[in-house]
Amino acid sequence: AREHGSTSLRRFDAEIAEQLERRKQLAMRVRQAVTRQEFVAFFQPIVSRDYRIVGAEALLRWQAPDAPGPAEFIPLLEEQGLIREVGRQMLHDVIHTAARWRHEQEAFQNISVNVSPIQLREEAFVNHVIDALKTSGLPASCLILEITESLYISAEKAVLNRLARLRQLGVRLALDDFGTGYSALSYLQWMPLDILKIDKSFVLKLAEEHAERDITIVRAIIQIAQACGLDVTAEGIESAEVARIMCELGAHCLQGYHFSRPLGEEAMTALLHSSAMP
Ligand code: C2E
Ligand code: CA
Ligand code: CA
Ligand code: CA
Repeated sequence: AREHGSTSLRRFDAEIAEQLERRKQLAMRVRQAVTRQEFVAFFQPIVSRDYRIVGAEALLRWQAPDAPGPAEFIPLLEEQGLIREVGRQMLHDVIHTAARWRHEQEAFQNISVNVSPIQLREEAFVNHVIDALKTSGLPASCLILEITESLYISAEKAVLNRLARLRQLGVRLALDDFGTGYSALSYLQWMPLDILKIDKSFVLKLAEEHAERDITIVRAIIQIAQACGLDVTAEGIESAEVARIMCELGAHCLQGYHFSRPLGEEAMTALLHSSAMP
């Protein structure tokens, strides 16, 4: 039994070594990718209750063969201290793109940008936002910053002040992934907010049989949002049926593969001009 144990321990060691090596490789690739500007914004349409495109969420993509998705590379950018630089560039670019779309398409108003808690910790963050808004001409009220739940963010004074200043400018704040992990009710107590984004895990299966419990949860979330004076955006809408249910429950805005997958800038521009939505 002892020998058996040490063999499996050795195998375990080898696996850890392999994982470490893979991480080292990825860390190197991600640093190169920043200098090569391989990170680009994609856009997923956000529609109103009458299914018109009223905005888009910018989602980062790493454009390289076999590149990992954001769930993997964003933590990597954060660990490598690169998220500030990449996030700032992204913010600047998508605000300028949104300003153009807004001129081309009257209904298009809002650009939503995900912000890492690490960016919020940066003193200059508010000024970066102000700069991008000024140079693009986009009104502050057209910018929505999506704050993702995380271990890092807590009721820190400096972060709180920054969020309050942004809101004073007219920028709107959305609490992302509401209802999951760290994005809990307690955030509603201290965070200045305008929008709740219901996490897709509550939305995906709404139209399935025996979804009574999910429907009850979503209904309750929307009631909380309304009581707090917040708008509700539902993400993860994959079917017409779920879109209908979410509207019935009172969501203000809808987002999901049923309407569109995240698109490159050109494809999004084309979609805006055709404005064909299911
Ligand atoms: P998120 O902010 O919750 O973004 C929504 C995710 O759901 C996106 O995944 C989107 O592609 C996906 N999604 C949209 N509609 C549907 C649907 O109908 N069904 C399903 N199953 N999924 C749908 P994505 O693009 O892989 O992004 C993953 C996460 O990475 C994002 O989650 C966000 O937390 C983070 N992220 C993406 N871009 C950025 C960024 O520029 N900055 C930061 N800090 N985080 C980002
Ligand atoms: Ca988001
Ligand atoms: Ca989300
Ligand atoms: Ca998320």
